[in-house]
Amino acid sequence: MTSNRRTFAIISHPDAGKTTLTEKLLLQGGAIHLAGEVKARGQARRARSDWMKIEQQRGISVTSSVMTFERNGVTFNLLDTPGHEDFSEDTYRTLTAVDSAIMVIDAAKGIEPQTRKLFEVCRLRSVPIITFINKVDREGRPTFELLDEVADMLALDVSPQGWPVGMGGQFQGVLDFASNTVSRPEGPSREFLGKRDENLDLPEDIAEEAELAQVGYPEFDLEAYRNGDLTPVYFGSALKNFGVTELIEAIAEIAPPPRPQPAGEEEITPERDEVSGFIFKVQANMDPQHRDRIAFMRMVSGTFKRGMKLTPSGLGKPIAIHSPIMFFAQDREIADTAEAGDIIGIPNHGTLRVGDTLSEKNQIRFTGLPNFAPEILRRVQLRDPTKTKQLRKALDDLSEEGVIQVFYPEIGAQWIIGVVGQLQLEVLIARLEAEYKVEAGLEASPFSTARWISGSAEDVQTFEQFNRANLAKDREGDWVFMAKSPWDVNYQQEKNPSLTFSATKER
Ligand code: GDP
Repeated sequence: MTSNRRTFAIISHPDAGKTTLTEKLLLQGGAIHLAGEVKARGQARRARSDWMKIEQQRGISVTSSVMTFERNGVTFNLLDTPGHEDFSEDTYRTLTAVDSAIMVIDAAKGIEPQTRKLFEVCRLRSVPIITFINKVDREGRPTFELLDEVADMLALDVSPQGWPVGMGGQFQGVLDFASNTVSRPEGPSREFLGKRDENLDLPEDIAEEAELAQVGYPEFDLEAYRNGDLTPVYFGSALKNFGVTELIEAIAEIAPPPRPQPAGEEEITPERDEVSGFIFKVQANMDPQHRDRIAFMRMVSGTFKRGMKLTPSGLGKPIAIHSPIMFFAQDREIADTAEAGDIIGIPNHGTLRVGDTLSEKNQIRFTGLPNFAPEILRRVQLRDPTKTKQLRKALDDLSEEGVIQVFYPEIGAQWIIGVVGQLQLEVLIARLEAEYKVEAGLEASPFSTARWISGSAEDVQTFEQFNRANLAKDREGDWVFMAKSPWDVNYQQEKNPSLTFSATKER
């Protein structure tokens, strides 16, 4: 039996329309009844601790969450990725928990930096991508130009599944190639109300373009799409609700059901009876009154039932999961059962860590949840020296959550923290103060990036002897080369060909 689960994320550059599209998808799934609910989801959100203020002040989403909805017998799990350009490892890891992604592109802008960055992360794991070119109700760039840009910049085959009939002031609707019908705007707000016009009567230039497009670009090929080599392209307007039905139907029809996950030499398939999953995100202190944490587990196999005992790989002894949380779009609900592809939230007090495998027999270890080399490194400066212990605890906690990475240099007492985006630094300082009562500052560090070192014990030791000033250990005690520049990395790599300098570390 094929699973009816579709677990996916939306990747886009800020302002491309991810939030608007999310709302419309949820509306289609009957999950919410009023547009505009996504950004202010529920009480729980407002009650979270102080650092969320950063999120509110800037109107951006630092945290990822999960939205589950159903439509025509298909269960969709939409994992939210933060839309701000300063993103964290959190974002990357969320993409390790999905089976496919929707790439939203603004028709006036084309491929933007964040879209590209997130796309590259998807490519690392061959995550299949459906492209949605949004805002066709406004004046955009020529359609051919947009398609060619996706193809060239991302080195992907593009296969348009429809065509906008005019854009901006000339916009008349979207032609669907498969049914050869046009969905047209209607009513005072000119929303698409579900009727399709079979009386095509297209303007001549549009008819010609559409024909050219159908012969000029590759036909849709399921295998190429699922391998991440081809992207089907849909056109629409999230705001006006055009093309959203086609998109959701496409996800139901072609997006892959839960995929097998690598576990060392093995692959764990969703059909396996044993319950297993991995933690891709931990969110601490969601409720400032209680120091609780929610670990987000992506189910890989088996059918989970409430109260079941699972063994976290990091702990070695089983824990009973009595109050798992599922994420139906309106409210958090207690889960009774969950299957491969589903996400469950597991409340805990710090026992579960990002990268942990949970399983019934404790024999599976999922691999491929990477740490990424930080792009910004800073020294932590404690304002009150009596608080060293608290600081260490806080840094350990926050690195466990994947908010930051911590490096302990071989020489010198000042710890170095690494992040992928600037925003994480602000989150760090705010959370140190709010949750740990530690006042700290950050100062420049002489390093600009870091690489995990691996090789034979002997080679590593030799390297260590000569490079102490540039060595640190990460939280797990693994060696890290702290580089002053990317050039520095290349230089050392050439000088030490027997060592590997890795920009990611697999857990
Ligand atoms: P996000 O940052 O990607 O989540 O983008 P939002 O969904 O918040 O949208 C950014 C802005 O673009 C908002 O002002 C939306 O109203 C607008 N927008 C989103 N989709 C469309 C669309 O299809 N057409 C038009 N004209 N505007 C849109």
